[in-house]
Amino acid sequence: MTDRYAVIGHPVAHSKSPLIHAAFAAQTQQVLSYTRLEAPLDGFIDSAAEFFVMGGNGLNVTVPFKEQAYAFANVLTERAELAGAVNTLWLDDEGVVGDNTDGAGLVRDLQRHLSLAGLRILLLGAGGAARGVIGPLLDEEPGQLLIANRSAAKAVALAEQFDEPDLLQGCGLNELPAQSFDLIINATSASLAGDSLPLPATVWQADGLVYDMMYGKQETAFLRQAAAAGVQCRLDGLGMLVEQAAEAFFLWRGVRPDTAPVLAELRAGL
Ligand code: NDP
Repeated sequence: MTDRYAVIGHPVAHSKSPLIHAAFAAQTQQVLSYTRLEAPLDGFIDSAAEFFVMGGNGLNVTVPFKEQAYAFANVLTERAELAGAVNTLWLDDEGVVGDNTDGAGLVRDLQRHLSLAGLRILLLGAGGAARGVIGPLLDEEPGQLLIANRSAAKAVALAEQFDEPDLLQGCGLNELPAQSFDLIINATSASLAGDSLPLPATVWQADGLVYDMMYGKQETAFLRQAAAAGVQCRLDGLGMLVEQAAEAFFLWRGVRPDTAPVLAELRAGL
């Protein structure tokens, strides 16, 4: 029987994961099927359990089920533990394994452009996406990682969980120190609503890199804000999406696809 994979979410019709995994499978000559699975909002556990009972091999998990997938997995990888959320599930001898490939995806996409070692990094937001990338960013040994969030207490609490007080701190968006950052990552959902962020002019660095995890046809509100502040190098989150998928594909199939042509194809289709 053909190996079966799916992306599970609610809603899931918009998901680009089937396109991405079909491209990976064609490129690496893997025979598999990959579909969309829309679970009812209160039905994640039942839908995921049924998928595996019926012989499914692996699931990607998207909004709003990543925390439920964390609870559903029998075994968690270290990076899923740290992230408190799971975006990739598969079956092995110990049961359902849960991993989180979002952070690795972000780091790989960033590494296409620069090395993170020693950089001063500002991470905006303290929700699920921010939490998932902190461990992988710290692994790259930046010089500083500051988390700034609209609700300051959430950023401070998140930073404390990682217990690296010299390297990693949290603060409110309105408490940012008067310094610039080599890399600014927007992990808030402000761009979804078309909102820019109330940041002091001092944070921007013309030769730095600015990254918005959101992606779309047009430049996001945050990237427009960075452009107006003179930042030359600006990236959206489409590369992260493709890289987190490649990491999941590697976990499932043991083969690492070439992401560049798949990213170019997706970009052309936006
Ligand atoms: P959450 O709902 O968990 O967190 C939202 C965060 O955004 C919170 O920190 C919240 O602050 C902040 N926020 C929301 N609105 C505003 C605003 N107007 N001004 C300032 N801060 C605001 O969302 P996620 O963490 O799951 O997702 C965040 C973004 O990351 C989304 O755009 C999502 O699409 C993107 N993403 C992209 C991925 C990719 O592969 N490219 C993967 C995962 C996520 P507060 O705590 O104060 O409410």
